[in-house]
Amino acid sequence: MVKADAYGLGVTRVTRALANAGARRFFVAEAEEGALVRQALGPGPQILVLSGHMSGDTEMIHDLDLTPMLNSLEQITRHLEALPGHAFGVQLDTGMNRLGVEMLEWQAVAPILVEAGPELLLSHLACADDPDHPVNAAQLKAFHDMTDGTGLPRSLAATGGILLGPRYHFDLTRPGVGLYGGLPFEAALPTLTLSLPVVQTREVAPGEAVGYGCAWVAERPSIIATVAGGYADGLPRTLSGKARLWDGDTPCPLVGRVSMDLVTVDITDLAELPRSLDILGPNQGIDALAADAGTIGYELLTGLGPRYTRRYQERPA
Ligand SMILES: *Cc1c(COP(=O)(O)O)cnc(C)c1O
Repeated sequence: MVKADAYGLGVTRVTRALANAGARRFFVAEAEEGALVRQALGPGPQILVLSGHMSGDTEMIHDLDLTPMLNSLEQITRHLEALPGHAFGVQLDTGMNRLGVEMLEWQAVAPILVEAGPELLLSHLACADDPDHPVNAAQLKAFHDMTDGTGLPRSLAATGGILLGPRYHFDLTRPGVGLYGGLPFEAALPTLTLSLPVVQTREVAPGEAVGYGCAWVAERPSIIATVAGGYADGLPRTLSGKARLWDGDTPCPLVGRVSMDLVTVDITDLAELPRSLDILGPNQGIDALAADAGTIGYELLTGLGPRYTRRYQERPA
């Protein structure tokens, strides 16, 4: 799964690395993202578009050899009329009520559609991050009811569904966040470090305040580092007064408010002035920081802005 710029990490480099590791099928949310993946990989790998065949996308789907996952009778009609013989898949709604053809519609069109040879039948789980949730088994049953006997390739599981076990795997799984180091894959290796340069440091006397709203007031003689990175870079304002930044293994509290381009950090207890501080890394992953911000790792990761310089490194095998 490489939608949303490969979860914010950079779709070109990430898809090339995944292709080098053997991936041959790539999912994106919309046709424009598919165009970027095709540009990165060239002809060959299959690129599947979850929003299906939207009006206006026909030329791109044809020219770039994208495989739309058709979501509705309207999309099915559009695709078969506009691009007869062009590859497609079908997304089925098994209970999430977000995307996909519903049971009754499917029963009506399945005989014709199965004849046309979809590449894949897909559905998506609503509660897979909660293994005990009864909706998982209900969706699994609905997926069987809708697809057993078709003989077509099937896919049900994203990261959470993969962790529910082999009954959920079918022919193809669609890992996203687990690839990029996030929950619900607790054993995921951290994939990114986010180091923010220190722009300036200053001494602050007891009683002096720091930042917008004077939200933090020094209680002791303090050293404050002003660090490049703010809410315009995807560091949520709800981290104000909560998060920590790290100098190696030493945590330093973020003090005062997160502003658009900057955060301020209490580095009084460090032995030396740092050149940069890490807000993500081995000591603090995306889910830990997301929890401080009151959100989830997915949102934090996909929100990291365009101002960072992204450097890529291959992890030794
Ligand atoms: C985003 C998405 C995925 C990947 O989900 P993760 O939880 O990130 O693994 C898989 N399938 C569909 C339909 C999606 O929208």
